[in-house]
Amino acid sequence: PPALVRRAEQQDTKAIQALDSAHYLHPFTDHAGLASRGARVITRADNIYVWDSEGAKILDAMSGLWCVNAGYGRKELADAAYQQMMTLPFYNSFFNTTNVPAVQLATKLASLAPKVGGRSFEHVFFSSSGSESNDTNVRMVRRYWDLLGQPQRKVIISRNNAYHGSTMAGASLGGMGGMHAQGDLPIPNITHIEQPYFFENARPGESEADFGRRAAGWLEAKILEVGADKVAAFIAEPVQGAGGVIIPPETYWPEIQRIVDQYGILLISDEVICAFGRLGHWFAYEKFGYRPDLVTFAKGVTSGYIPLGGVMVGDRVARVLIEKGGEFNHGYTYSGHPVACAVALANLELMERENLVGRVKDDTGPYLARRFAELKDHPLVGGAETCGFVAGLVLVKNKATNAMFDADLGVGMICRGHCFKNGLIMRAVGDRMIIAPPLVMTHAQIDEMMALIVRCLDATLDDLRSAGEL
Ligand code: PMP
Repeated sequence: PPALVRRAEQQDTKAIQALDSAHYLHPFTDHAGLASRGARVITRADNIYVWDSEGAKILDAMSGLWCVNAGYGRKELADAAYQQMMTLPFYNSFFNTTNVPAVQLATKLASLAPKVGGRSFEHVFFSSSGSESNDTNVRMVRRYWDLLGQPQRKVIISRNNAYHGSTMAGASLGGMGGMHAQGDLPIPNITHIEQPYFFENARPGESEADFGRRAAGWLEAKILEVGADKVAAFIAEPVQGAGGVIIPPETYWPEIQRIVDQYGILLISDEVICAFGRLGHWFAYEKFGYRPDLVTFAKGVTSGYIPLGGVMVGDRVARVLIEKGGEFNHGYTYSGHPVACAVALANLELMERENLVGRVKDDTGPYLARRFAELKDHPLVGGAETCGFVAGLVLVKNKATNAMFDADLGVGMICRGHCFKNGLIMRAVGDRMIIAPPLVMTHAQIDEMMALIVRCLDATLDDLRSAGEL
């Protein structure tokens, strides 16, 4: 490791942890709990691995936070940031100004976004995160309907267990009860329907195809309940990520498309996780064949090397904003940040050069699917599904009946603990264990990851047996 890193590693982990709990309030964290345990200090990373301050090497099967698509240690991205900082570190895009990397990135993204059903995405609005981008969506959707003389169309429909960010609008759009409970959320005019989670919400004996159509029907029922002339948009993740990698049945998205078309409401595809190769496509709506009007992105656009997010604005909305005009009173200091855009351009070039999206679609994605499906034979696993480079499995008490463990047991957290001990980062969402590995992963590294997953499942099984839970 370089000298700087060596210095970090030579520091006393305990001393860093003490300063951490004295001064640093972490996101989504029980601060008292963290202070008593001490945070794991991550000091460096390369390819698909991260190292902590004790020198432990850990396989990062979550790509950081679903974002390091190109893997760690990519010199091209550091060089792009350095060059751009030396040329023009910052300038805003307000007041009739622009900058070259922002223009180039918007052009590049427009060329990467597939046209479906004659609709194209020629315009991009930039932000610095997924949450901000969804705030932009709320503002833009309302502006759109105002300009069309239908200001009463304010209601945005989302889904339970969705994740759309942590700002006031993002958390409101999301369907996380724990987030709504802290802060009087959702804000007005945002409402939710049930998620298309077959394992939890299907009726006994119902086929996946029938369930998919029925789950989409909840949108139509909600539109009719609210009043079709009051509904502005429906927002959804192609595959729910933070909710636990919930992959909808194939019949779900076509029926959603039929419904939004029938009632003329806007469709927002939140692809903060799913775009940029995660599902084997540059944009995930292509995989499922639907036609969104707005697409939220962030994370993978820069492989997480620097914050950048945005909204791909489809023709339907762009035309109204541009032609009906007037000032859109919305934007961020860092909209179109030149350094972030330069890093994104370098990242997209690198991904194209290494064919990372095609590899996930045709090679490593199918290989991961085959290997991950083998987990269904494990005594603890009730279901194991993959979609491109996201995968999730559910830990069950009884494979025959799919009976779950008592939630108080925290079986997912027990498993996650074994992952950490064995040098694997896997995320627990209740008793679902999920992964979203870097797209650079090779077949051999998939094998290495699968061996670790099996070892952690076995250790969890041992724990449950010795505790008399099985
Ligand atoms: N939307 C989705 C689908 C996400 O997964 C996330 C983050 N996990 C966000 C929005 C929010 O992004 P950020 O944390 O960059 O604000």
